[in-house]
Amino acid sequence: MVTNRTFTMLKPDAVEKGHVGAIIEKITASGFRIVAMKLTQMTKADAQEFYAIHKERPFFPELVEYMTRGPIVAAILEKDNAVEDFRTLIGATNPAEAAEGTIRKLYAASIGENAVHGSDSDENAAIEGAFHFSGREMF
Ligand code: UDP
Ligand code: MG
Repeated sequence: MVTNRTFTMLKPDAVEKGHVGAIIEKITASGFRIVAMKLTQMTKADAQEFYAIHKERPFFPELVEYMTRGPIVAAILEKDNAVEDFRTLIGATNPAEAAEGTIRKLYAASIGENAVHGSDSDENAAIEGAFHFSGREMF
């Protein structure tokens, strides 16, 4: 299923450091339309469910702690080839390996605190978007 939509979170470190405006500007300047957006904070149970695929990984407890320590900006974005193009825009998980000009290269501190989330498939984009937004919040 190709939906042309992806899901993102501007993570707690990006919000804390005041990078929200710059990151949203970069996203919209790259051709993404905002379908849904809000400032919200995940509970521990939310983060454990959202990142359930990583629950056996050694970094999981740290990831849950990080993702719940403050507000995030959650958003659904639309563009042709949204999932792949957004992963290109954010860059590699580890900012040390992220390409020049990518959001993680510009704003991420480490592989853990890496400023932004981007869905890895159309299927997960739909699941993750529905995790954070009701139909009435999508435009
Ligand atoms: N993460 C981490 N240590 C690692 C790998 C990942 O703390 O060695 C965190 C990081 O915040 C990452 C998230 O777990 O964004 C999800 O990992 P994934 O491999 O799915 O990376 P992503 O899809 O976010 O690039
Ligand atoms: Mg991932």
